[in-house]
Amino acid sequence: MSSDSDAAALARLIAESRRAVVFTGAGISTESGIPDFRSPGGIWTQMAPIYFDDFLASEEARRETWRRRFAMEREFGGAKPNRGHRAVAELVRRGTVASVITQNIDGLHQRSGVPVSRVIELHGNTTYAHCLDCGTRHELDDIRHDFERDGKAPRCRRCKGFVKTATISFGQAMPQAEMRRAEIATLAADLFIVLGSSLVVYPAAGFPELAKRNGARLAIVNREPTGLDEIADLVIHQGIGDTLGQAVGVN
Ligand SMILES: [Zn+2]
Repeated sequence: MSSDSDAAALARLIAESRRAVVFTGAGISTESGIPDFRSPGGIWTQMAPIYFDDFLASEEARRETWRRRFAMEREFGGAKPNRGHRAVAELVRRGTVASVITQNIDGLHQRSGVPVSRVIELHGNTTYAHCLDCGTRHELDDIRHDFERDGKAPRCRRCKGFVKTATISFGQAMPQAEMRRAEIATLAADLFIVLGSSLVVYPAAGFPELAKRNGARLAIVNREPTGLDEIADLVIHQGIGDTLGQAVGVN
């Protein structure tokens, strides 16, 4: 199939939907230059991950976590939403898409104009931090200033608790409230659109399965084959920005 007919088939599914949900993975953000950290050769296969228990137990692990975070900021902090993000935002604006469930932690859906209330972040958000004890939000720019001056892992300005990016670490439980919201959104959907996820990380990958079992149509746009291609109504192994941008009419 040519990419024209792929985009047309996706446009048709979207036109026939009354309530769609979008589910995004690393593949939508690689088009903004943010690497897929879990892919072979990705950063997480070169550096041992720091588990949540180690973060809690060790000042050295906390320092190393923050050192990596700011190194990442220097490389990818300038990343901007791409055509795929803009097309998703347009579908939300039109009311076609009710919720965006994402495995990404980069905040690019919000930056592309999707209201914060419509984004369900399964793995949290790395663009800000919070205190693990009292929840107070901390901005990265403030933390970096102190970190570069003192070389110490940041502590909460209010309660001195440990401060960590608002992400879900290895060894940390999935966020219950977000999982529940994602489930509700999935069960309400008549069309479930996967963008840039290989659908191998559970429990997140369970949502498209749930949608399909619940009678929704399933569309998958991902460069590589995914674990759920066989049960999908439409599978497109092409770039997301071009495919969805064309389907939605967004540049
Ligand atoms: Zn605190």
